[in-house]
Amino acid sequence: MIATFQPKQATPKQAELVKYWNEKLESSSPETILRWAVTTFAPKLTMGTALGSSGCVILSILARIETKIPVFNLDTGYQFPETLELLDRISTKYGIEITRRSAEISVAEYEAVHGGPLYRIDPDRCCYDRKIRVLESIAPNYDAWISGLRRDQGPTRAKTPVIGWDARFGLIKIAPLALWTNKEVWDIIVKESIPYNTLYDRGYKSIGCAPCTRPTLPDEDERAGRWSGQLKTECGLHQVNESLTTAQL
Ligand code: SF4
Repeated sequence: MIATFQPKQATPKQAELVKYWNEKLESSSPETILRWAVTTFAPKLTMGTALGSSGCVILSILARIETKIPVFNLDTGYQFPETLELLDRISTKYGIEITRRSAEISVAEYEAVHGGPLYRIDPDRCCYDRKIRVLESIAPNYDAWISGLRRDQGPTRAKTPVIGWDARFGLIKIAPLALWTNKEVWDIIVKESIPYNTLYDRGYKSIGCAPCTRPTLPDEDERAGRWSGQLKTECGLHQVNESLTTAQL
C-alpha cells in the first residue's frame, strides 16, 4: 500500500526564510542562488539528480562553489545504462561524488514479491517504493535540497519557486534553474562542454527509468515521453510539492 501522505508544516522560521529569499533571489543567476544555498545550509544541504540536462548544468556550477555537497541519485534499478555511465563521467569531470541510493530490495526481489514488474500495472506504487520511500529515508538528515526543476518543463512545474517549502519531505527546496528555458540549458551545455546523457542525441527529451520513458517527436512536450499513454506525468517526488508550498506557508 502507498502510505497516506501527511504534509509537513514549515516552522515559522523556515516559512519566513523561504518567503524572504524566494522573492529576493527570484531573478538571480543560478550561481548566486547556489552560493546562497551552500552558505545558508551546508552541511545540511543535499542535491538529488536523475542526471537530466538541468541537473548536469547545476552540477557544473556547483563544482565552482563546493564539491563536497552530498549529491544522490535515486537508483530505482530500472535506469538506463547510459544514465549510469553519465553518472561516472560527470563525477569524474567535476570531482563531485554522486551516491546511488536504492530501495532496500533489488529489482529481482521486488518483482518476485509482486509477480512481475509493477511499472506495467501500478506505476504509482512502483515509483513510491523505488523512489519516494528512498528519499523519505534521506530527507531527515538535511534542511534543504537542490533540484533541477524548471517552469518550462510543463504545467505541473509551471509555478516552481526558486526557493520553496517541500511539504512532502519537510525540506526547503531550491530550484536554481526554475526560470531557465530548455534552450538556455542546452546553450550552456554546448558552450561549456558539460557532459550529458547520450540518449538526448537519440530523440529523448526527458529521461527517467527505461521502461517508462520513450523518445519524443520534435513537436511534443519535453515530458511527453514519460509514462507515455498513461495519465501519470510525475513520479511523486515533485508533483504535489509546488501547490503545497504555498498552502503550507
Ligand atoms: S519510473 Fe517506472 S520503473 Fe521507475 S520507479 Fe517509476 S514506475 Fe518504476
